Amino acid sequence: MIKKLSILGSTGSIGTQTLEVVRNNGDIRVTALAAGSNIALLEKQIREFRPSLACVWDPEKAKELKTAVADLPVRVVSGMDGLLEAAVEPEAQIAVTAVVGMIGIRPTIAAMEAGKDIALANKETLVTAGHLIMPLAREKGVRILPVDSEHSAVFQCLNGENRRQIHKILLTASGGPFRGRTMDEMKNVTVEDALKHPNWSMGKKITIDSSTMVNKGLEVMEARWLFDVEMDQIQVVIQPKSIIHSMVEFEDGAVMAQLGTPDMKLPIQYALYYPERRFLPGERLDFWKLNQISFEKPDFDNFPGLKLAYEAGKTGGSLPTVYNAANEFAVSEFLNRRISYTDIPRMIEKAMRNHKTVMNPTVAQILEAEEETRMLLMNS
Ligand code: NDP
Ligand code: MG
Repeated sequence: MIKKLSILGSTGSIGTQTLEVVRNNGDIRVTALAAGSNIALLEKQIREFRPSLACVWDPEKAKELKTAVADLPVRVVSGMDGLLEAAVEPEAQIAVTAVVGMIGIRPTIAAMEAGKDIALANKETLVTAGHLIMPLAREKGVRILPVDSEHSAVFQCLNGENRRQIHKILLTASGGPFRGRTMDEMKNVTVEDALKHPNWSMGKKITIDSSTMVNKGLEVMEARWLFDVEMDQIQVVIQPKSIIHSMVEFEDGAVMAQLGTPDMKLPIQYALYYPERRFLPGERLDFWKLNQISFEKPDFDNFPGLKLAYEAGKTGGSLPTVYNAANEFAVSEFLNRRISYTDIPRMIEKAMRNHKTVMNPTVAQILEAEEETRMLLMNS
């Protein structure tokens, strides 16, 4: 049977790899594509995949794209209204949420309300609104299929298991390019240094987040919602080569792990075809060459982004939003060379200390907390 997909964030790292999976399999139809501003790539994607709807966040760029694809039967929309329209495009069965940042919250909720399964890459949505998303998924009978490699690994380890018998989730982390360094040794890290991830090639924001360990902090909070466990049941383990993508320890002490070469197409394809597995071309693990896999405890003192994430996740309410919003702001400032690398965790901590947590925030309160965080950091 032909599957139908909408892809929000189609021009990014996850978006383009999703389209590669679509291209390799040949039995998925793409019905809607959405991007921020890269209309050159979006036009190519429209010509190849022929969606009926395309959204560009930037209205000027949307106009340009409309002219460029005037020969095709595709409707071009823009802005948040357009993004919401792409999320609920009637034909799509699965919405791939691959936009970066909290902008993903409203379209994800809209897609779920329209009855679509979610192939979830956009972790910021679950971190900030997990308490709304998970009950909504149950209410609407839609599936949240994790695309993040660690969560896909856990999801795969849970096949056929009773989720109530999870003792612990072991989230693996590469430790990033600065593993082993002290804060002091990271003071002069440049944008170029931080964008060099040892194992994965990803969008800029998540690459910076991986280097600060904030990405792992976000993933701990993401896992807590996806698998309905307590923050203390999630342990981060450094495994520098990214061979083990994550593990689950059960009540009886048995540990299941999912291993593979670092290739996001595997978790993407698994989410799109779950529970089916398909052939995936590419490099395979060769255990004769692999020789060994090593483990370390994370350095919570020199990578405070991870410690703060546990604090935000345990407190809950609007605090994870503040953690995430402060990080989004700080990373964008760092990428624009306006602050230093070690200011990133400092800004997160400052925003968290300044915030009065609201429990069970609504979407409006989440967006308010985001705005309040941005204002605080902008004016300091
Ligand atoms: P990228 O920066 O590579 O791509 C982001 C995508 O979102 C682009 O298509 C971009 O469009 C689009 N976009 C940005 N702003 C808007 C907007 N306002 N409206 C519509 N589209 C928008 O990010 P990644 O693909 O790396 O990451 C996407 C998400 O997936 C993130 O939440 C990340 O944490 C998560 N993730 C990514 C992994 C990876 O391997 N890359 C692994 C696990 C999770 P444009 O190109 O036009 O700017
Ligand atoms: Mg990940």
